[in-house]
Amino acid sequence: MSEISVVPRIRELDAYAPGLSIAEIQQKYGLSRVIKMASNENPLGASPLAQEAARRHAPFLFRYPQGGNPRLARALADLHAVDPRRVVVGNGSDEIIDLLIRILAEPGRHSLACFDPCFSIYPIQGRISGIEVRRCPLGKDFSFDFDALLRLVDQSTRLVFVTTPDNPSGCCPPREAVADLAGRLAGIAPHCLLVVDEAYMDFAEDESGASLLASGALPDNAAFLRTFSKSWGLAGLRLGYGVLPPALADYFWRARLPFSVNILAEEVGLAALADTAFRQATLDAVRQGRATLRDGLTALGCTVWPSAANFLLFQLPPGAGPARNCFEALLRRGIIIRPLSSYKLPEHLRVSVGDAAENAAFLTAMRDILAAPETAGHI
Ligand SMILES: *Cc1c(COP(=O)(O)O)cnc(C)c1O
Repeated sequence: MSEISVVPRIRELDAYAPGLSIAEIQQKYGLSRVIKMASNENPLGASPLAQEAARRHAPFLFRYPQGGNPRLARALADLHAVDPRRVVVGNGSDEIIDLLIRILAEPGRHSLACFDPCFSIYPIQGRISGIEVRRCPLGKDFSFDFDALLRLVDQSTRLVFVTTPDNPSGCCPPREAVADLAGRLAGIAPHCLLVVDEAYMDFAEDESGASLLASGALPDNAAFLRTFSKSWGLAGLRLGYGVLPPALADYFWRARLPFSVNILAEEVGLAALADTAFRQATLDAVRQGRATLRDGLTALGCTVWPSAANFLLFQLPPGAGPARNCFEALLRRGIIIRPLSSYKLPEHLRVSVGDAAENAAFLTAMRDILAAPETAGHI
């Protein structure tokens, strides 16, 4: 690239490994119908009211959006019964994660702490920002060892990330444990923000028992993240939000690109919030489908981790061969799930809850594959 020189921390980056797309698999295997249960998307699609809003606002695509998305912030403040000055919105919660790191941590001087494995955006954006990334291994059963996490924290640490329910395990500690973590963190490192990523919280059976955000008792040093990508069915639109300490929210708005939430995202997001029937149908379908998949996989001899999210982490029965082969055998049958080698879990698989027909097709395919494990290497 001529004389242009890329900074070392960017030169060392690998590209983000997303779930495979339906088009890629159709083309590769010559399939007409492909089921995607890989990226924790909404099994019912997008809300009809949201789709209608997208059509209604199409004529205004030539306009810039209003700066700062105040209507959306107000609607979200109402949803969670919090002060609107706390609410921020971004181009997916990914943008909020990235900005929080850049607002709070100085390259070469500060650190962040997160679990290993965890949602990959925290360590990746930390590295891109030149922040030291400290990782704390999860317990063997994917539980959180908050004592061990806090041992990584010192005066250089500016952010601690916790995902609850966790991705990829679905593990969801009680909210008292998260509140206790926030309190202890404030004692050890008063300058450090606890980021509680609740991307999947609305799928929990007992949201009010599990969510510190829903409890309304918001610690001064905690930020909460939610997203429209999962339960609201708008992953492709790119819309996420946060509930932050008010002073931090003010800095967020100063630092955010003025129009990163586009005009359709704002209008469609508002329409999705109003579609309470679709939302309830989504939560019912996911909770029911999660139980169906858990029971079906367990009956096939798989180990399935308890999940409060819209996906399940599982391992194949002993003797079933490598997880990678099962993943590829599913692909040949037109079903995409998520292998977890990028999470350094090569023997685990993650499946997103689909609709009733997709869940049944997945379980049937798994039964066939486990009855006659296929040999590796022929794709
Ligand atoms: C899917 C997901 C998000 C949402 O990201 P968006 O940028 O809002 O699509 C955030 N955190 C975790 C842990 C996730 O799995």
